[in-house]
Amino acid sequence: MTGIDDLPIRDELRGKSPYGAPQLDVPVRLNTNENPYPLPEALVARIAERVAEAARGLNRYPDRDAVELRTGLAGYLSSTAGHPVELANVWAANGSNEIIQQLLQTFGGPGRTAIGFEPSYSMHALIARGTGTGWISGPRRDDFTIDVAAATAEIARLRPHVIFICSPNNPTGTAVDAATVLALYEAAQTAREREGGALVVIDEAYGEFSHQPSLLPLIADRPLLVLTRTMSKAFGAAGLRLGYLAADPAVVDAVQLVRLPYHLSAVTQATALAALEHTDTLLGYVEQLKAQRDRLVTELRAMGCAVTDSDANFVQFGFPSTHPGAAGESGDTPPADQQAIWQAILDHGVLVRDNGVPGWLRVSVGTPAENDAFLDAVRAVLKENK
Ligand code: PMP
Repeated sequence: MTGIDDLPIRDELRGKSPYGAPQLDVPVRLNTNENPYPLPEALVARIAERVAEAARGLNRYPDRDAVELRTGLAGYLSSTAGHPVELANVWAANGSNEIIQQLLQTFGGPGRTAIGFEPSYSMHALIARGTGTGWISGPRRDDFTIDVAAATAEIARLRPHVIFICSPNNPTGTAVDAATVLALYEAAQTAREREGGALVVIDEAYGEFSHQPSLLPLIADRPLLVLTRTMSKAFGAAGLRLGYLAADPAVVDAVQLVRLPYHLSAVTQATALAALEHTDTLLGYVEQLKAQRDRLVTELRAMGCAVTDSDANFVQFGFPSTHPGAAGESGDTPPADQQAIWQAILDHGVLVRDNGVPGWLRVSVGTPAENDAFLDAVRAVLKENK
C-alpha cells in the first residue's frame, strides 16, 4: 500500500501530523472551544430564507468581494469593538484560519519567518509551515503572560516578517494589554525598518469573551497591524466557516493577490448575513458563557486546582496532586501528568483538551448542565487520586 512517505511531498511536510483534536463520541464534549448553544430557531429560519434566495442565483459565481457581508461585519465591529471601521478595512474568508493563511501567503512565505509566543494557537505554526514560512517559537512567562522585554529582544534578534499575538490566548485564556501590543509593534517596525516594517497580527478569535476591551482601536494609523476575528465562537457558528480581519485598506488590497477567486460561497455569505441580523441574541449567549466561565474558574480553584485567569470561553487548569502547594494560584508550572488526568476525566464521560502544555488541560465552557458534569468528573477524579 502506498503511504505518505512514498509520495514526493515537500520535504518540510515529511513526518508531520495534521491538526487533529479528537472527535470522540462521548456524552459531554468540551474540547474544541465551540459555543454549546445551537443557533436560535428564529435565526435558523432566517438562514433558510436567505439561503433559498441565494440558491436562486447559484448558477452565477458569488459576489467575489463579499461587499454586503463585509459592510455588515464592519458595522458589527464599529458598534461593539470601540473603533469605527468600514468596508475597505474588512476582509472575510472561510474561517479565521483561512484569513491567517492568506496573511502568511502575502506577508510570509519561503525565506521569511513568523513568530508566536507559545504555548499559543497551534495553527499559527502549522499554517506557517503550510505556506513555507519559517516558524519561531517565542517565549512566555511561567504564568503565561508575554514578557515584553524578552519578546522584543527576540524580535530585535530574529527580525521576523510576521508577529502573532493571540489575545485572549488559546489555550491559556490570557489576554494581552494594549501596551504590550504597542511595544511589540514598535519593536517589529524597528527591526525591519529598512524593509518597510513587519506585519503584526492580533488573533482575537475569543475577543467577545474578554473582560478587556477589544484591541481594534490600535489599528488606527498603524498600517501593519491586523486584527482577526471569527463567527465560530461568539456567534456560535463554527460550522459556518466565517472569519474576518480588520486593518488598513492597503492590507485588504494586498490579500487580494493570494485569495482564490470566489473563495466565499454565496451560501456562506447569505448565512453569515443572517447571523449578523441576530447579533443581539447571540451576544446574549456570550454573556451567559462569560458568567459560566467565571464560575468554572472559581469552582475549580475551590477544589484546589490551579487555574490560569481566563478571558476566553475556555479555562486552563491543572491538578493539585501534580504540584503540591499550588492550590488556586495561577502560573505555577506543574509536572507533566496531564495525559493521565485527561484520560481519567474522559472515563467519566467528559472530553477536555490536552494541548501538550505540561501539567495543564483546557476545558471549553459548556451549558450549565455540561459544566456541572465536568465539575462532577473533576471532583470524582480528585477523589480517585487522593
Ligand atoms: N484563532 C484561534 C486563537 C482559535 O482558537 C481558532 C479556532 N480554534 C481560530 C483562530 C480559527 O477559527 P476559525 O477558523 O473557526 O475561524
